[in-house]
Amino acid sequence: MQATETSPPPVAHWTEGLAGGPGLALASPPRWHLALALAVIALLAVAIGVQTWAWQVDDERQTLASRLEVHAAALDTELTRHEALPMVLALDPRLGAALAAPQDAAVIAAGNVYLQQTQLRTGAEAVFLIDSTGKTVAASNHDQPDSFIGQNYAFRPYVQEALAGRLGRFYAVGTTTGRPGYFLAAPVQRNPRGDAAGDGVVAVKVSLAAFEASLKPGGGVTVLADGAGVLMLSSEPGLRYRTLAPLSEQTRQGLDATRQYTGQSLQAVLPGTDLLAADKLPRLPTLLGVSAEPALAGLSEVVRRPAGGLGWQLVAFVDTPNARRTGLLAGTACGLAGMGTVMLWQMRALRRRRRAELLQVEDEIRRRIALGTEHLHAQLAEQARTENLLRRTTDSAVQAGKLAVLGQLAAGISHELNQPLTAMRNYADNALLMMDTGRAEGVRGNLQQIGALTDRMGQITSHLRAHARMQPEPVGPVSVRGAVDNALVLLRATAAQGAAPTVDIQPPGLQVLAEPVRLEQALVNLLRNAMDAGQGRAASQISATVEGTQVCIRVRDHGPGMAPDVLARLFEPFFTTKPAGRGLGLGLAVSRMIVRGLGGELQAGNAAGGGAEFSVFLPRAMPLPPSAD
Ligand code: ADP
Repeated sequence: MQATETSPPPVAHWTEGLAGGPGLALASPPRWHLALALAVIALLAVAIGVQTWAWQVDDERQTLASRLEVHAAALDTELTRHEALPMVLALDPRLGAALAAPQDAAVIAAGNVYLQQTQLRTGAEAVFLIDSTGKTVAASNHDQPDSFIGQNYAFRPYVQEALAGRLGRFYAVGTTTGRPGYFLAAPVQRNPRGDAAGDGVVAVKVSLAAFEASLKPGGGVTVLADGAGVLMLSSEPGLRYRTLAPLSEQTRQGLDATRQYTGQSLQAVLPGTDLLAADKLPRLPTLLGVSAEPALAGLSEVVRRPAGGLGWQLVAFVDTPNARRTGLLAGTACGLAGMGTVMLWQMRALRRRRRAELLQVEDEIRRRIALGTEHLHAQLAEQARTENLLRRTTDSAVQAGKLAVLGQLAAGISHELNQPLTAMRNYADNALLMMDTGRAEGVRGNLQQIGALTDRMGQITSHLRAHARMQPEPVGPVSVRGAVDNALVLLRATAAQGAAPTVDIQPPGLQVLAEPVRLEQALVNLLRNAMDAGQGRAASQISATVEGTQVCIRVRDHGPGMAPDVLARLFEPFFTTKPAGRGLGLGLAVSRMIVRGLGGELQAGNAAGGGAEFSVFLPRAMPLPPSAD
């Protein structure tokens, strides 16, 4: 059919794709925008974090530099405090005398006492007198087990300097005591008015232990390195006499000559790394969890400044956890803020997209509904046409079935009409004879008989006419009794061959909703079959009872009943077991069509006591209540 070919897909199909399927390809959001934004935010966060960290490190370095400045000032104070002492001591005649008479025990003893008193008063670690050969002749510690007396210090630069007439300054580990100290030396003349060059040297050894202790507080590691990079003092004892850089052979030889760090191996703090000028500690050893120098583990920054005026430098190694924390915080904050912004942006974009999608879906639904409605109209029109055609076909079929039955009944009906006709002929002849003999009463009686016979014929023909009528009648209440009687009138000629059927309608005035002629037609078909089957047997039975809202009209015969194969094909058009000319096979097919058309049902079966039983179910019509008057 044309309409089926152009039908849109069923509803389940056309809702597919509404939410972005092939029917509705919604533009997907550009994912790379998001990726780009996130990448930019990540970069920005890292950059800000790193920059903040760098600023913070600078800040901390500044603070550290100030601390080193304080240390440097303290060191200067410590070093210069005793600077004038040897020169002042050199003027004392007791020292010149001791140089002049080293064998004179009394003179030496006087010198020793003088030096001891000076040491006690000034707080120096030791004060001692050396002759021109470098040998110590008197000392403040003359009475100590590790006395300097008799020791030769000619190899010490400060001795050489002083003997050359200059002020000698030197930091070294004591060869006698093993304790480090800062040595200051001035030339001493036997004769105070002699040359600048000394006949001997008076030396003061100053301990820097207090200064070293002051390096400790403040975190990290602070050291004092000499010009060669040897750590003279350290807040971390383990680093003392280590070096900032590996020492060259030449430097080692120089140090050996002066025995400056006697007995120390002078290993570099970080083997293979030069920290003389570096401002960062290499991170790698710490990152691996193995630090070349445990005292420096986790420290990253190196801050330095010159101190003491002998090429020394104060070096601080520190960690900058605050800088890292601040950098991390700044980076994270920036990242979070950026992510928040992107999320807001995404949410807004998503909302916009959803709204657009909804509008699109709405449009699509509207379009499809319009399409569906249009199609529905087309289908309804087609259905109306089909129904019309079906109705016309049904009407034609019913009519054809009716005429076929009438045709089959024609012989019986003509016989039925012939009887009164013959009787009328006889009555008419008799009436003529009676008129000739002047028997007026007889004529009247005959004419009355003729009138009664024409009534009977009229009844038959009016039924026939009504039955053969083409036009369908309106559906309305139809008396079951009336319909059965009318059917029996048409069948009377046939019925005459056997016993007339018994009729039992309960209640007698029972009505059904039907078209009167069609109902009669169905009943004629059923009754005719029943009479055919029950020929020569007990009469058929017609009964009608109320069943709920329906009425059931039963037609039962006492014939042979129906075999299963006949039952299966009973309602097929043109199915008949009757000989040609007697059956067309349309009766039951048309009857069922009629009953169903009236909203009822026609059922067939074999009755319990033998014979066939057909049941017509039709809606019951309630009789109108009797009017008040
Ligand atoms: P037709 O009477 O022209 O054969 P029907 O449609 O009225 O057409 O009946 C079809 C067939 O159903 C009949 O030929 C008969 O074999 C069977 N049949 C109908 N009514 C009865 C019945 N009361 N008893 C036995 N067979 C029946």
